[in-house]
Amino acid sequence: AKRAREGVHVYVPDPVTGTAGSDRLRTMEELRTALDGDEICVFLQPQMDLRDGRIVGVEALVRWQHPTRGLLSPAHLLPAAEQAGLLRPLTDRVLDLALEAACRWWPGRELPVSVNLSAANVTDLDLAGKVAATLDRYGLPARALTLELVEDTLMADPERGRTVLADLRRSGVRTSIDDYGTGYSSLAYLRHLPADELKLDRSLTADVDRDPRAAAIVQSTVALAHALGLSLVAEGVETLATSATLARLGCDVAQGYAIAHPMPVDEFLPWLAASDSGLVDVALLPELGR
Ligand code: C2E
Ligand code: MG
Ligand code: MG
Ligand code: MG
Repeated sequence: AKRAREGVHVYVPDPVTGTAGSDRLRTMEELRTALDGDEICVFLQPQMDLRDGRIVGVEALVRWQHPTRGLLSPAHLLPAAEQAGLLRPLTDRVLDLALEAACRWWPGRELPVSVNLSAANVTDLDLAGKVAATLDRYGLPARALTLELVEDTLMADPERGRTVLADLRRSGVRTSIDDYGTGYSSLAYLRHLPADELKLDRSLTADVDRDPRAAAIVQSTVALAHALGLSLVAEGVETLATSATLARLGCDVAQGYAIAHPMPVDEFLPWLAASDSGLVDVALLPELGR
């Protein structure tokens, strides 16, 4: 039901062949076509400051409005894009859609939009240039954009990852380490990481109100992040209890179903307006935690 509310269909392999082989091939072909048209879109999920309930960011999550199969999630779309060698054009499209959306609240509301990068983007020497050109096209300042890189992508080529992040950050774009705490990153690596925020993975935040060991990990990660000058975002915050505990443990920002599910751009604008005017009661959540 949650996936349905998020507008995402669960991928089921072909029951006849028992494999996803031919289906995948078809999907790759269709994706090539989709990238030329307007079937690719983004859903937006708000991020809330746990101290005052203000919305301080929004993540753009790719969706594929498939003509016959409905709305497809990244779990289905990204592997096909990777195999077809289309990850770079896909990111280009998502970047474009995310910044186009940001124009609808910027500059009246200075809310940065986050875009997820994949491994293929880290080796793209053009990335910083494309980012600058897209910001330019929409007349947005670099601080309107946050780029998220998952920890494992960074660790696959730490040297390159660091360089890419440093370049982007120098240009004024915010940088974020996604799914933090699940991969193989070492503390030594964190020391030189050109990032603005860490996004603590859902697996580390989900039980925080019930499991003292999870709480201890969150608390020490908060201390670590803050000592390094990084903001800590908790992902996958599904309940009020979790949100309250994360606030008490010092997390800066929360993202998850407790605040809002990812939603189409057209729905996000009124949602943001309601939140800003205090009509969304979730803004009261942090008070419960402090
Ligand atoms: P992510 O960047 O860690 O994004 C968060 C994912 O968790 C999203 O799934 C979101 O819908 C889901 N989520 C948000 N709140 C909750 C919650 O409270 N509970 C639970 N259980 N889940 C929650 P989604 O949209 O299916 O995206 C999955 C992953 O796909 C993303 O994880 C990201 O790594 C990747 N992705 C999404 N869009 C893009 C994109 O444009 N480009 C690339 N390269 N990757 C993308
Ligand atoms: Mg992300
Ligand atoms: Mg994440
Ligand atoms: Mg995650």
